[in-house]
Parts: sequence; structure tokens; C-alpha cells
Amino acid sequence: MAGIYVHIPFCKQACNYCNFHFSVAKKQIPEMVHAIAQEAELQNQFLKQQIVDTLYFGGGTPSLLTIEQLLFLLETIQQQYTLAADAEITLEVNPDDCTPEALVQWRSAGINRLSMGVQSFRDADLVWMNRSHNATAAVQAIQQAYTAGFYNISIDLIYGIPGLTEEAWKENINKAITLPIQHLSCYALTIEPKTALHHSIENKSKENIDAAVQAKQFELLMQWLPEAGFEQYEVSNFSKPAYESKHNSSYWKGIPYVGLGPSAHSYNGKLRQWNIANNTLYIQSIQKGKIPAETEVLTPVQKRNEQIMIALRTREGLTLSTLDDNWTETNKLRLIRAAQKWLYQGFMEWQPQKEQIRLTKKGMLFADGIAADLFEVNA
Ligand code: SF4
Repeated sequence: MAGIYVHIPFCKQACNYCNFHFSVAKKQIPEMVHAIAQEAELQNQFLKQQIVDTLYFGGGTPSLLTIEQLLFLLETIQQQYTLAADAEITLEVNPDDCTPEALVQWRSAGINRLSMGVQSFRDADLVWMNRSHNATAAVQAIQQAYTAGFYNISIDLIYGIPGLTEEAWKENINKAITLPIQHLSCYALTIEPKTALHHSIENKSKENIDAAVQAKQFELLMQWLPEAGFEQYEVSNFSKPAYESKHNSSYWKGIPYVGLGPSAHSYNGKLRQWNIANNTLYIQSIQKGKIPAETEVLTPVQKRNEQIMIALRTREGLTLSTLDDNWTETNKLRLIRAAQKWLYQGFMEWQPQKEQIRLTKKGMLFADGIAADLFEVNA
């Protein structure tokens, strides 16, 4: 099993909170598409001929590609890697790119899952975040996607936006669950350094986020979505049964993946590799036949800490009986001892039959902090 991630680093306009790698200089798209196809060839041994079960076009905004560019990338990837017949193929899309024609073309090209950057069904929030679409476009895009034959649609929502009251958050969720979607990824708004939002908050032209409001909205989310039939299978991810994202789940299970495009990361079970986050330098290097990447071989301690961090965010948590050879009995015992205080205070729970240690709903609020507390220190 393996996965492929393709990073398309272009956007129509910059959302003020975003710290992903992207450029609004779209004239480089044709050159970039060729460079990514060339990288697919250069990296074709990274997965050692393993069957690819998931292919994910992310970004940036992959829905900015023309159908010809998308088909070219799909065909190149199919030539260079062995894609499973039932592979999950996801395209990240912005609602304003989802015309009926584009949706039909994407479906015919073999895309079978859409991940739509809706973020909010309220125009006030979308304007506040400098998104390029409005709420009406988001609703229409979801309905038209379903009509075009997409029966596996995920949307992203953001909570904790200043001005988003509890009532408005409820309206957003209510709107979402009436639409034909099977998956939601919901994130708290974060203020990343060097973003336009960070700058606006520093100079007080925008209101800061309120951590207590965010925590409350997350708690409500964990109540409302399961009531509507969406299971929380990871801290930020909810799905109808059997509609979990296979691609993201494979990251959390440590399944190898290759990342193509600037800033994309790859992992093969032993080493981590990340491409340069600069479009021009990426293209120049690939044109010379060189992958512009740095690599790091993970130490056993780094691997265990990474597993703790990732697995704890999932519904199953860490299943001690199925951990790989990187874990000795001493390592497991150390983890259980370190988790005692969290178990005792109700932030974690222990499932003896499955030898599973996992977060409770209360613990989900502090997932990353708890994981960091459980790390081995001598990485
Ligand atoms: S569309 Fe996505 S990648 Fe592009 S700026 Fe907005 S959040 Fe970032």
C-alpha cells in the first residue's frame, strides 16, 4: 500500500490566514505542470513499485488546472506508478471553480472524491478571511458536484473566527448536514506567523481569536456532528460510516507516500523528504534532472514520537499489541507510565481487550499537548 500527494502551488487570491506554500502568479502553471510530471518520473522508485491506493491533488488550488493539465498529470502518474483499480483519487477544489462543465470533466477523468474548501456558509466570515468565493457559490458547488456524480464529497470548515457566535456556528453545521456531503474536516482558525492575518492582528485592524470560544465551538462540534451521523475518526475529521479519507488515514497509519511538487513531503517508512518551497527554484532544479529535496533519516525515538503524535489524534489511538518492531516492551511500559496522569484525570482511556490507549472527548481538546507530554525526550 502506498499514496501519492501532488502539490499544485497556485491560488486565485491569498486567504489571510494561510501559511501553505502557494503563489498567485499563475503564469507559471504550465511550466509547473511539466516539472511535476518530470518529478513523477524522477521519483518513480521511491515507493518501490508498491500499489498506490490513494492519489491526492492538494495545494494551493488544484482546481485551477485546466482539464488538459490535470489529465496530463494523471496519465503521467499512471505510467510511472501502479495505481489500484479502486484507488481513491481526490481533488481539492475551491467552490468558485466548480462549474457544471468542470465537475463533469473531473468525474470523467477518474477523480472520485472532492475536498472542497468551503470554510464557512456565512459571507461575513468569508470576507473576513479574504476567501475568493461566497456562501451561495459553496452551496451550489456541493449540489452540482453531487449531480455530476460525486458521491464522496468532503468540505473544510473553520471555527473560532471572530464574529462567529455559537448560534452562527450551529447554523453553519446545520447547513452542512443538509447538503449531500459524506465528510467534514473542521479546523480552529490559527494565527500563523508572517500571514496577513497575523499582521492585521498585530496592528489591531482585526480582532484576535478567543481560545475559550474556539474550545467551546470544538466541543459543540463533537456533539452535533455525531448526532447527525458523522463519526469523529480523527480530532479534526468526521465522516459518514465508510467514508473516512483513505489518503489521510494512510498518513496516520505510517503508510509510505511520495509527494510531488514544491513543498511536498515524502515518507517511505525510514526517511522523510521534503521538496523546496519555492516555485522557480523547484522548476529550475527539476529541469536539470535533480529533485530539490532535503532528507532526514528518522531515529527510532523520532519514529516512536511521531507515531504517538499521529495515532493519538485518531479514534483508535495507539494499539500497543500492533505496534511495529520499533517498540520494545520497555518503550511500551514507559508510555503507559507517562500516560497515567492523563488516564487518571479522564483525558485518556485504556481499552484492555484491544490494548488500546486513546483520547477521550475531553482529551481531544488538548490532543497535541498531551501527545507532546508523552514523547520520549532524547530524540
Ligand atoms: S485557497 Fe487554500 S491554499 Fe490558497 S490561500 Fe486559500 S487557504 Fe491557502
